[in-house]
Amino acid sequence: MSISFTQSVTAFDAGQMAVVSQAVAMAEDLVSDHYKLSATQLRQLNYDVKTRADLAEHEIVADHFAQIVRYRAEKHNAVLITSAQDFYKVCIQDHSILACLKDHTEMALYPFLLYVICHELVHVVRFKRFQQQFHVPDELKCAEETRVHRITHEILSPRKIKGMGPVFAFYENWLTATEMS
Ligand SMILES: [Zn+2]
Repeated sequence: MSISFTQSVTAFDAGQMAVVSQAVAMAEDLVSDHYKLSATQLRQLNYDVKTRADLAEHEIVADHFAQIVRYRAEKHNAVLITSAQDFYKVCIQDHSILACLKDHTEMALYPFLLYVICHELVHVVRFKRFQQQFHVPDELKCAEETRVHRITHEILSPRKIKGMGPVFAFYENWLTATEMS
């Protein structure tokens, strides 16, 4: 990638990191609840949520609020490598989120992060359950995105989370997108 981030690095400050922790904990609760996952099953999803401070250069993208990078376990003696060994790193893109909040002052950090993290965790669950393949053509990716946005909405909307209205409005186009299948 030719884009240099060195001039425009923006990372969450300590106060914002505390909000990230709250949002991760709540997202894990809500997604576990939705998929009826036990604490053990949640751990077995084998993911971690990280912010800019813990991202490598190749894990940073300009145009997303988060992305999932999959790491495959290298087991040299194993004949069969199953996807159970995959590790998913949910890479929160601090700079994109902060830039978006600057333009959309109607949204607050906590509900926005909660939406983004819930959305990514739904992806992780679906990767693990083979409902979604990691590498798919763009048109399938788009249909899957719509589906994941709908599930995220389904998970969050009954919870009456303060400030979630403007976040739903921001993502509205995804909910109304025509689903291809
Ligand atoms: Zn997505």
